Amino acid sequence: MAVPSASKDTKCVFCDIVERRAPSWIVFEDPHTMAFLDIFPFTRGHLLVIPKRHGARLTDIPFDDQMHLVRSLDEICRRVERRLTPHYNVALNTGANAGQIVFHVHFHVIPRYGEGNPFRAGQRERLDETEAKAVVAELSAT
Ligand code: AMP
Ligand code: ZN
Repeated sequence: MAVPSASKDTKCVFCDIVERRAPSWIVFEDPHTMAFLDIFPFTRGHLLVIPKRHGARLTDIPFDDQMHLVRSLDEICRRVERRLTPHYNVALNTGANAGQIVFHVHFHVIPRYGEGNPFRAGQRERLDETEAKAVVAELSAT
C-alpha cells in the first residue's frame, strides 16, 4: 500500500510537523498517522492524534485514513490508560464555531486527574520543555 504524503501547503502547521518543518513532541508515529503533545496543554499529557494526509475535517479524508486514525487513537488511549490515568476526554472540534483553530483534522486526548474544569479560556500555559520530555518518555515506549 502506498504511504500517504502530507500536504506541501506550508500554511498548515500540522503538515509542517508531519514533514519535520516545525518542531513537535512526538510520542507515536506510523506510516499514516502521528501523535504529539499539544503545545498549550489543558492538562499534563494532552495529546493530538492526526492523519498524515491533510484534510480539514474527518469527513474530508478517505475512509482508510479514518480507520488508521481511529486505530492510532485507540493506541494512544491505551498508553494514557496504562501510563497516566484511566480518566480522559477525547474531542474532535470541527469548524470554527465548534472551536477548531487548526484546520487539519485531529483528535484531542486530554488526561484528567480529578482537577476542576480545565477547559476555561486563558488558563493554558505553553508546554514546558522539562515536562514535555518527561511525558514523551512515559508515553513513547511501546
Ligand atoms: P483545535 O481548537 O481543536 O483546532 O485545537 C488545535 C490545538 O492545536 C490547540 O489545542 C493548540 O494548542 C494546538 N497547537 C497549535 N499549534 C501547535 C503546535 N505547533 N504543536 C502542538 N500543538 C499545537
Ligand atoms: Zn495539514
